[in-house]
Amino acid sequence: MIPLLALACVLPLASAAAASTEISSVRVATRNDANTPFVRTVVDVSQKVTPRLYLDKSGQYVTVTLPNTKIDKNVQKQYDANKNVISRIWLTQRSSATDVNIKVPRKITANDLKVFTLPADAKAKTNNRVVIDINDKSGKVKQWSHWGDTSIGIHPSQQTKTSWKSRTDSGSAVGAATVTIPSYGKSASYSLTKGLKGKTICIDPGHGGTDTGAIGSMSQEKNITLAISKKVQQLLQEAGANVIMTRTTDVDVYAPNDGAVEELQARCNIANASKADVFVCIHIDSFSSPDAMGVTAYYNPKTQYDLGLAKYIHQQNMKATSFPDRGVDTANFYVLLHTNMPATLLELGFISNPAEEKALNTETQQDNFAESIVKGLADYFDHNGL
Ligand SMILES: [Zn+2]
Repeated sequence: MIPLLALACVLPLASAAAASTEISSVRVATRNDANTPFVRTVVDVSQKVTPRLYLDKSGQYVTVTLPNTKIDKNVQKQYDANKNVISRIWLTQRSSATDVNIKVPRKITANDLKVFTLPADAKAKTNNRVVIDINDKSGKVKQWSHWGDTSIGIHPSQQTKTSWKSRTDSGSAVGAATVTIPSYGKSASYSLTKGLKGKTICIDPGHGGTDTGAIGSMSQEKNITLAISKKVQQLLQEAGANVIMTRTTDVDVYAPNDGAVEELQARCNIANASKADVFVCIHIDSFSSPDAMGVTAYYNPKTQYDLGLAKYIHQQNMKATSFPDRGVDTANFYVLLHTNMPATLLELGFISNPAEEKALNTETQQDNFAESIVKGLADYFDHNGL
């Protein structure tokens, strides 16, 4: 993205004329679709401005000065943002300039801060904009990718393959004292008999609530995963299975704005407490290039049946879509490692690919995937997990 201003640089005022540029709106959003989540503040201005950026010595006060601007009377002067990243945003009008003041809860450095301008675009119906991005320093804002035990926050496509190693029994290794961390494998009581009837199946719709998951051009991952998951629930119940859902609405399973470990362990706890026979986690993939496409099923060989679960579901999924086949692959994702039963994490296409995003938002493709997941589960049990 466009020019990054150096810290505390001194740029000449655009002109000495009276304030003629109006600030017409301010928008604040948490973005978790980058490697480091950040809060983006966008200031709409009626003409191009050259912002000046200051970060005070404490590293907790940011001031972005917009020369020759005045605040429109309809524009609010104070804004709330994700408290993990920003404590407060407020605008102050000076004689011929406006300051956008930002207080952050933790010290930040130049590397955590980006200010740039974007030109008006008549076609996209956008104004001239000043954009202020501040990185999350708390580690509490979840990134959309699927955390593994050893590579937190790294997208599968960028992840260096690491061989799987068993975790130690020390719960403190993954932190969060309030979260119960059971050791898997000790209560291995999952069923491998034929048929869906009477099986306990835990379905985990990825993300939810304050965690949007990946963001596409028209939709968010959390909503697609929930829509497909609820269709799976319905079909499984019709087949006589006992379905445990980690969520059935748009919520965080542990708590809003929680950390990755709490959130993902909460989902594992639900599966483990219900003594589910299998755990199926539903996600939609995303990548920096819109060209990436296709369907993947991930598993971790923590039992000899995890591969079978991923494989049988994936085979059916590939009959239910025209999306490319990215295969069945191993991964050290948290939920695969911390569930006691065979588990798979499905990436049902890319929200970052326009064609796949469009299809994923149709009832038809959602129904097709729901049916194929249920068929794959039936195949898994019919083959006794192998
Ligand atoms: Zn996801």
